Amino acid sequence: MLISCPNCAGLNRVADTAMSQQPKCGHCQAPLLSGQVVTLTAQNFTRHANQSQLPLVIDFWADWCGPCKSFAPTFSAIAQTMAGRFRFGKLDTQTQVEIASQFGIRSIPTLMIIKEGQIVVQQAGAMSGQDFQHWLNAHA
Ligand SMILES: [Zn+2]
Repeated sequence: MLISCPNCAGLNRVADTAMSQQPKCGHCQAPLLSGQVVTLTAQNFTRHANQSQLPLVIDFWADWCGPCKSFAPTFSAIAQTMAGRFRFGKLDTQTQVEIASQFGIRSIPTLMIIKEGQIVVQQAGAMSGQDFQHWLNAHA
């Protein structure tokens, strides 16, 4: 499986049998499945959304958005518990305007799962931790 590094965005080929053995990035040695939330930008977006085979969960947010801020700790906590199954990334819709408009993001927060460049599902509005976990399990 090709997996992008949450630290340097380098691509790594990881054997299925190595997925449970805390694989490390061959470029920067960071743990590949640490649950670290990635800050998505125009520079690393394609790596994580299109090239990596680990599904990417995106939180489209903005600094002025209260519900986005309330949801942030939930997003980070779930990222830790589901680290081996998804890559979790946050996209600031104010600084990454092109990507947000490419996806037609009209309300925030919007949550989206992308697998190898294809949108699996998207939902506008924050969720409780439990609902978020169920939603991820339903679309894994
Ligand atoms: Zn790396």
